[in-house]
Amino acid sequence: MTDSPHIAHTQLPTGPAPTCANCAACCCQLEVMLISDTGVPPRFIATDEWGGEVMRRLDDGWCAALDRDSMRCSIYQQRPLICREFEMASAECLEERRGMDAIYR
Ligand code: SF4
Ligand code: SF4
Repeated sequence: MTDSPHIAHTQLPTGPAPTCANCAACCCQLEVMLISDTGVPPRFIATDEWGGEVMRRLDDGWCAALDRDSMRCSIYQQRPLICREFEMASAECLEERRGMDAIYR
């Protein structure tokens, strides 16, 4: 969820320099609240139990807007504010990558 144009998929989240290019879009399994209108298409929006708008997630856990072939955001220009502010290599990013690593092993 950085300013990279791609959320690439792939290999396991290993290596000394975490980037979206060597990550399986780990952060795109998090719940993403829509706190501003960035133009997210309605088909990707769900309502949470408190009536708030969130990104819809599919049964596999990933965001409905994630392209499963490329593992990149299919609505990058319209992605939610929270996605824009999620920093690559931040503590949250590294935590998500670690969680995914455990799943793959
Ligand atoms: S978890 Fe981090 S490295 Fe992976 S896609 Fe999200 S921001 Fe990029
Ligand atoms: S909107 Fe895009 S960047 Fe945000 S969680 Fe979904 S696929 Fe990831």
